[in-house]
Amino acid sequence: MGALPVFRWRLAPDGYATRRQLRAQGLRPGGQDVAAQLERPRRRGPLVAYLYRIDQAKPVRPMTPARWAALAKANAARRTCPECRRDAGYVIPSSLGICVPCADAPTPIAA
Ligand SMILES: [Zn+2]
Repeated sequence: MGALPVFRWRLAPDGYATRRQLRAQGLRPGGQDVAAQLERPRRRGPLVAYLYRIDQAKPVRPMTPARWAALAKANAARRTCPECRRDAGYVIPSSLGICVPCADAPTPIAA
């Protein structure tokens, strides 16, 4: 393995993430070598973090029924109109913030 590219702290290029950042996305390095490193200068020597390529990362673990259920629930929440509390069947557009029928309604339906 040759010399690693070194980036300044917080200036990591797109497509790279630390192990912790991968984890936050439900990913793990997946056996790949460290692709680059971040260094934050400190008096007693730089603080180093290792970066992995996101495109070569693997899911932490296969999806289980519980994980699918959690994902479905999260998606359902994104499809639920805060105005009428119905599942709109599509993700509520952030530009509207409510479902299209509610946005088109002349006055909000009283709860
Ligand atoms: Zn609605």
